[in-house]
Amino acid sequence: MPKTPVHFLLVDDLAENLLSLEGLLRRDGLVLLKARSGTEALELLLQYDVALALLDVQMPGMDGFELAEMMRGTARTGRIPIIFLTAGAHDRQRRFRGYEAGAVDFIYKPIEPDVLRSKTSVFFDLYRQQQELQSQRDELAVSASENQRLLAESRKYGDQLREADRRKDEFLATLAHELRNPLAPIRNGLQILRMSKDEAMSTNVRDMMDRQLSHLVRLIDDLLDVSRISQGKIALRRGLISVQSAIDSAVEVSRPLIDAGRHTLTLDVPKDALWLNADPIRISQIISNLLNNAAKYTPEGGQIRLSATAENNGVAIAVTDNGIGITEEMLPRIFDLFTQVDQKTTQSQGGLGIGLALVKQLVALHGGTLKAASDGLDKGSTFTISLPLSDQKPADVAQEEKQDGVSAAPLNFLVVDDNIPSAQTTGVMLEMIGHKVTIAHDGLAAVALAKEIHPDIMLLDIGLPGLTGYEVCQQLKALPEFKNTVFIAQTGWGQESDKKQAFDAGFDHHVVKPISFQEFSALLRDIQSQK
Ligand code: ADP
Repeated sequence: MPKTPVHFLLVDDLAENLLSLEGLLRRDGLVLLKARSGTEALELLLQYDVALALLDVQMPGMDGFELAEMMRGTARTGRIPIIFLTAGAHDRQRRFRGYEAGAVDFIYKPIEPDVLRSKTSVFFDLYRQQQELQSQRDELAVSASENQRLLAESRKYGDQLREADRRKDEFLATLAHELRNPLAPIRNGLQILRMSKDEAMSTNVRDMMDRQLSHLVRLIDDLLDVSRISQGKIALRRGLISVQSAIDSAVEVSRPLIDAGRHTLTLDVPKDALWLNADPIRISQIISNLLNNAAKYTPEGGQIRLSATAENNGVAIAVTDNGIGITEEMLPRIFDLFTQVDQKTTQSQGGLGIGLALVKQLVALHGGTLKAASDGLDKGSTFTISLPLSDQKPADVAQEEKQDGVSAAPLNFLVVDDNIPSAQTTGVMLEMIGHKVTIAHDGLAAVALAKEIHPDIMLLDIGLPGLTGYEVCQQLKALPEFKNTVFIAQTGWGQESDKKQAFDAGFDHHVVKPISFQEFSALLRDIQSQK
């Protein structure tokens, strides 16, 4: 790196003296500033940092001593070393005045070049050293502040890691608890079904088991969704949907929880359809999540209001309750993953603390925003989703959405699953809605049976003894007589990579266990409408 030049100031009223000084002092890295008077010298001193001033003593107007005194008088120039050039040799009186004015040395005219060079080069070297020291000091200061910053950052990360670790532990404990919760009533329900002959009681118990199972499935779905979202793997299946239909299906899902809390739900939704270009399942999941929270965090007999309002090219969907409310301090944090308000101080109602994090991200994927508001503890809460409206408005979408799950024509199914209860219950369910079902429990039997009965639909588990579901699909797909058969993979693995593997093997559809009756009916409807 080139060094910054060192400046010497030369002051003499005679141009030829300045020239000869310049000739004697010239060296690399040195810039000589020349002034013909005290005033010129002061001007130069305002512009430059000077390592040494060589001042002629005898000058008309301001003489060298007066100039030196002025230099000493200001902080900027007060420490500049001064060498006086004087002809009045060895006059003690003058020397004394010179030192008083701040001289570090005198050089007598006629100037001896060696004396001049050696005395001045001391100041050149000294200034260079000072410069180097200064730049080392600057570098040290920079690295010290960088170290400070890194230390503060690593402390912050440390704190965040500790907090994440604490939340993870808390989350695992909550997860175990939450997964176990629905299992107890399901097990009890089974026992009651085994013992009870009372038809009404059995119906109640079955409904209860259905609700608990749905709860369990939702917890697991949410968990998977969170992990998919954080890996950027959620793909929206967008279509034109009306806000009203999404609200209807959300209310349907949340109704049992709202009723269980004896809450009153008021809907304030415009009659004319508001259209969104959105994933219907996700939108209804978002709304029902907020409704569930409203039901969970409101003491029994509360008021819940769900409204939809069109507002500049968008819709605001708001869920308001008069429940336990949220403190100002917690409000910004409730959307964080695994955050739950302190369970000791509020009536925590179970859950994993992932619902709102998931909802917020799903809303963002749709290009919308989610906001929470509350006036404080026991003052209720309002969650508002804002979503952009679509500019398209089909007439028939609402009708399609309302169709029930029963399929139009009976189909011939081959259900393949080595989990015998799973295969049997799927078979019973399909038969109840009018389809014909054959069951196989391993891959080889599946291939043989398929060749015999030529099913319309093969519902195939993947992990099978003999041949895997993928191999069964590949073998049958290669035969021309199966070109109209629809192959559905049914697995416990819902990641995009699992779906891709299924599609690569030739499957037409991929569903994740346990598929609900409604979802399965919707899939069959799709399949039949494409036939
Ligand atoms: P979970 O309900 O599983 O705990 P969420 O992510 O859905 O997780 O909510 C996070 C936290 O936000 C809840 O634990 C609760 O403390 C608070 N919260 C959510 N909705 C409401 C509401 N309507 N009223 C009061 N508090 C709420």
